[in-house]
Amino acid sequence: MNSQISLIKCDNYSPDLVRQRLGQAINLLGGITKFIKPGSKVLVKPNLLMAMPPDSGIVTHPEVVRQLIRLLKEINCRVIVGDGPSVWGQHIENVDEVYQVSGIKQVCLDEGAQLVKFDKRRMREKFPLTVWLDECDHLISVAKFKTHEFTLLTGAIKNLFGLVSGTFKTELHKNYFKPQDFARILADIYEEARPSLTVIDAILAMEGDGPATSGKPRHLGLLLAGQDCVALDSVLAQIMGIRPLDVLFIREAAGRGLGNFRLNAINIQGEELQGLAVKPFLLPVAAQKTNLPKPLVELAKKLIRYYPHPLRKKCIKCCACIKACPKKCIIMRRKGVFFDYSECIACFCCQEVCPVAAIRVRKSILARMIGL
Ligand code: SF4
Ligand code: SF4
Repeated sequence: MNSQISLIKCDNYSPDLVRQRLGQAINLLGGITKFIKPGSKVLVKPNLLMAMPPDSGIVTHPEVVRQLIRLLKEINCRVIVGDGPSVWGQHIENVDEVYQVSGIKQVCLDEGAQLVKFDKRRMREKFPLTVWLDECDHLISVAKFKTHEFTLLTGAIKNLFGLVSGTFKTELHKNYFKPQDFARILADIYEEARPSLTVIDAILAMEGDGPATSGKPRHLGLLLAGQDCVALDSVLAQIMGIRPLDVLFIREAAGRGLGNFRLNAINIQGEELQGLAVKPFLLPVAAQKTNLPKPLVELAKKLIRYYPHPLRKKCIKCCACIKACPKKCIIMRRKGVFFDYSECIACFCCQEVCPVAAIRVRKSILARMIGL
């Protein structure tokens, strides 16, 4: 069966415009009641990676969340909002700062939504997910469209990783550090927690070394909505200028029959994809392509490494990277952070949480020589 998604232009975050365009995106799919039962309890999960303001392009913009809450209140839903940010580390109080700085706390106060933390969990087969999934009737994911150093893109499916409770995210990075294995975990989470509806904030997106301070905000002026996260992410991949199956978690989820990745199986309401004419995104360093023949690249890949490199002059010694590192292979010395590369698994969680873009991805000499 074909998947239905909507793709709507929304140039900026002014409240009236977001309300109108978000309503349009959902109405084109049949309206909010097609996905959400009136009077139900709904968990809304934005992407709140770290304590960054709305205009950073790093977090889901609070105005999108606000207008979604209002739509839900119109059908008498009780709204719960929460996320499990990367900066959690060992300190749950870090989440308060994320909620404050991202603007989500204020939106919840204004709109009467309950803001919660994902500290209580229920173990699924391989990972614990927040119990708020059990306590709510519906999940609505409000993702942010960004490039991602480790997974290439973050959108609908990757946003669900934030449902993993507390420090277990770090454990998953440690235990499933190969990209293919991590893609399987993301598909597992999507199988466990299928949102009733996903909205994607692609008004201010991100390209380059996303998903955090090392990436470059990129104005796209788009909102997407739909139920099939594979289809939504496949359309994001097309917008970025890559093939959907280049993204391992899309490949994995599509292979399990969790959604459609082929454009001819996705009915897009609203804008035509071809008509957008988006310039291809700058890709993360670790994902860049070469013009060399594929067999040569495959051979060379075994010798190629990407690794985090500290920019010590920018480092403010906040220790966020040390707390986030699943391998505990970063230490702080007088001059700043140092990495034990013999232990590093190149997950780039350290780069993801650095508030001042003081960690860059470096390529090994061979990677540079062959133009990767
Ligand atoms: S140093 Fe950075 S990239 Fe390496 S394992 Fe730790 S968090 Fe991951
Ligand atoms: S590299 Fe970034 S995250 Fe790590 S201590 Fe320095 S400023 Fe903090």
